[in-house]
Amino acid sequence: MSKICCYSNCNNSVFDMRTLMCEVHYKDFIKDDVINKPKHYHECGVDPISIGEKIFSKEEMNGFYKMNMLKYWYRAGKKEGNSKEQDLEKYNFYKKKLEENK
Ligand SMILES: [Zn+2]
Repeated sequence: MSKICCYSNCNNSVFDMRTLMCEVHYKDFIKDDVINKPKHYHECGVDPISIGEKIFSKEEMNGFYKMNMLKYWYRAGKKEGNSKEQDLEKYNFYKKKLEENK
């Protein structure tokens, strides 16, 4: 059973199961990271938004930001252990990401 690379418009089968990338895109991704980010950061786990911004289309990321805005707006002040202010801050975080991604 093979999966398809998560880069938009790439039909290669997946080489790295952790990142769901084909070999070509995985090598590109790693090379890119050595230049832009210290290696230890990568080893500790790059945050998923940064990965998403590299491998998903603008439209896909906008959908992700919108869905998170909806989630945090909807649950603000209702989820135990999370203050309303904190959830609204997260709402604003995703709103800003959406505005920046135009
Ligand atoms: Zn690929």
